[in-house]
Amino acid sequence: MEHGWGATLLCAGREEIRSYESVEVRFILDNSKIPEGLRRLADQPRVTVRRGGAPLEGGRCVVYWMQRAMRIVDNPALDVAIEAGNLLGLPVVVFFSVIPNYPHANLRHYHFMAQGLRDVAEDAAERGVGFVLRRPPDNSVEAFLAEVQAALLIGDENAAREPEHWRKVLARRLRLPYWTVDADVVVPSAVFNRSFVLLHHLRPRLKAQLPKYLVPPEKISPLILWKPWRILQSFSLTEDMTAGFKKLDRTAGPVDSFTGGTHAALKRLREFVNLELASYEETRNHPEVRGTSRLSPYLHFGNIGPLTIALAVEETVKQGKASASARDRFLDQLIGWRELAVLFVRHEPNYDNWECAAPWARKTLVEHAGDPRPHRYSLKQLEQAETADELWNAAQREMVQTGWMHNYMRMYWAKKILEWAPDPAKAFDWAVELNDRYELDGRDPNGYAGIAWAIVGRHDRPWFNRPVFGLVRTMSGASTAKKFDAARYIRQNSAEERNRSSEAERQRESRLASTTSMQLFRS
Ligand SMILES: Cc1cc2nc3c(=O)[nH]c(=O)nc-3n(C[C@H](O)[C@H](O)[C@H](O)COP(=O)(O)OP(=O)(O)OC[C@H]3O[C@@H](n4cnc5c(N)ncnc54)[C@H](O)[C@@H]3O)c2cc1C
Repeated sequence: MEHGWGATLLCAGREEIRSYESVEVRFILDNSKIPEGLRRLADQPRVTVRRGGAPLEGGRCVVYWMQRAMRIVDNPALDVAIEAGNLLGLPVVVFFSVIPNYPHANLRHYHFMAQGLRDVAEDAAERGVGFVLRRPPDNSVEAFLAEVQAALLIGDENAAREPEHWRKVLARRLRLPYWTVDADVVVPSAVFNRSFVLLHHLRPRLKAQLPKYLVPPEKISPLILWKPWRILQSFSLTEDMTAGFKKLDRTAGPVDSFTGGTHAALKRLREFVNLELASYEETRNHPEVRGTSRLSPYLHFGNIGPLTIALAVEETVKQGKASASARDRFLDQLIGWRELAVLFVRHEPNYDNWECAAPWARKTLVEHAGDPRPHRYSLKQLEQAETADELWNAAQREMVQTGWMHNYMRMYWAKKILEWAPDPAKAFDWAVELNDRYELDGRDPNGYAGIAWAIVGRHDRPWFNRPVFGLVRTMSGASTAKKFDAARYIRQNSAEERNRSSEAERQRESRLASTTSMQLFRS
């Protein structure tokens, strides 16, 4: 019998984490200078030891180099840093380096990130860890490690190629141990260490791991509170962190529809589980209503962890406020599809281009490459929502003006790009370009996997052979529009309506209480 996600959850309990086979870890295990507890800490599937060895003698702190997981609560990377600090009798300082050329990031993304970092600064002080934010030219990690006399460096993980490259380069240059922690998935990717063709193959394996990983994290507090022994310069978040970034694309501007940060994420989570989870199954495919969590921007920036969300959902079901089947449907997205996407990006070098096509899709797309297309549009026409398809234009406007698009519309949106672009490779590139540019949650494994699903059949099965699409699943405007109130969605995303609702959103967000993450997290 197929178990729901919850069936496994209910029997969840703690178990010893199995040993992680890694040359680097063995190196650490051989090192008698490392305290026993620290060895156990490194020996978890969530931890990758990128540079082994004993913490530097005489080191004065543990540094957590925060990159992906921009939060202080429910952050396994920070927890590992604090645990290590406690074992070494050292305080922890979080270091964040803002770089001017983060791949594909624009002003919209930096603005959302800056909002989130304000919560990080506030919550770090409450948790007793330091927080230092640096901009160029003073943002070198290595210089900071020397400045604070770090004993050990902890980082987090990101499956995308550039950050992974930076970590590898840094690991070679460092003179102190460097571990990274897979903080933004429920089940650490190292448990599987491969990608999967279909969710159907991964799902049972994920579920089998949940008793071990879908459990409330231990509350870990620093034994030694951070008190800088010298003045450490830190950039003030009251100033514009992008000032002077000459090459930054400022044409995709900030949006009012989402406020970045853990505080807003936790508030939205609470709203979702209390008001919308119960009807998730019925409303999730209705882009014209607020039927999904809209937590994807927060997940992308690591303002909230998937574990916090999954546990809140489980708790809501226990309180009888939503059904087990609503929970199962939601966790299938949050854990199933999301972690399938992370494994895809981690193990598929061509995750963001047409070369990642499923073999059957590639073959039949090529066979149909010369088929006449009903319409041809340029990238500029698409960007400006100037097609003959009002439903598609509405989706494009939703994305450009709010920084987010409903999942059902994302599928339709990408399928149409395949139909209208000169060839499938261009269609893939254009979809990535628009998605990464305008979505707040863009530049994410979910985006690359979503586009690969829609355009080149990844994580899908062959359908019927059709013009242009070959065996790739199609979505027609007529049938899509029948599944929900498309006229209403189009009205909501007309240029005039968007202006009106952006004012309402602004007021709604400004009502966000000044409650801290700790209070929201505990409540
Ligand atoms: C062409 C295309 C492009 C996409 N681009 C992105 C993107 O850039 N960034 C992004 O985060 N998601 C992307 N998705 C996946 C999905 O559309 C969004 O995650 C979802 O719409 C976010 O809304 P939500 O938070 O309300 O989702 P909910 O329904 O509330 O789901 C909760 C969480 O589960 C995860 N999730 C939901 N659906 C999917 C899915 N199909 N695949 C993977 N994870 C999922 C997300 O993290 C989401 O926040 C894309 C999908 C497609 C088909």
